[in-house]
Amino acid sequence: MADKIKIEVVTPEKLVVSDDAEIVVAPGALGEFGALSGHTPFLSTLKTGTLRYVDSNGKERYVFISGGFAEVLPDKVSVLAESAERKSEIDIDRARTALERAEKRLQSDDKDIDINRAQSALERASYRLKLAEADG
Ligand code: ATP
Repeated sequence: MADKIKIEVVTPEKLVVSDDAEIVVAPGALGEFGALSGHTPFLSTLKTGTLRYVDSNGKERYVFISGGFAEVLPDKVSVLAESAERKSEIDIDRARTALERAEKRLQSDDKDIDINRAQSALERASYRLKLAEADG
C-alpha cells in the first residue's frame, strides 16, 4: 500500500484536523490540487471551499476552509486558515442565519455597508451550507 501523507488543518482558534491520509485534495487559488505522499514541496493560497482527504480506513473526509494557505511537503500537508470546520461540525442554522444577514446587507441601500465583507460572508455561508447538506 502507498505511504500515507499527514494532513493538518489549524486555525488561530483550534486544531481542526490532524490525521493520516492516502490523498488530500484542496481548493487552491489557481484550481484544485491533489497531494500524495512524495509530492514536490510547494505553497498555495486556498479559496473558500472544501478540502477533502481519504483517511487510513479509506473513508472520505470533508473540511470547510476559508482564508487559508497550504504548505505541501513530501510527507505532510499543513493548512493554516482563518476558519475551518469538519463537515460534521457545521452548524446549519448558524450558516443559514449568516447567509440571510449577508443577503440583506447586499440588498440594502445603506452606504455604510461594506460590500466586499458582505460578499465574503455570503460566500462562506453558501459553501458551509453546500457542504453540510451534501451526501457523504
Ligand atoms: P458568523 O457570522 O455565523 O460568525 P462567519 O462566516 O462570519 O459566520 P467565521 O469568521 O468564518 O464566521 O468563523 C468564526 C468562527 O466560527 C470560526 O471558528 C468558525 O469555525 C466558526 N463558525 C462560523 N460559522 C460556523 C458554522 N455555521 N458552523 C460551525 N462553526 C462555524
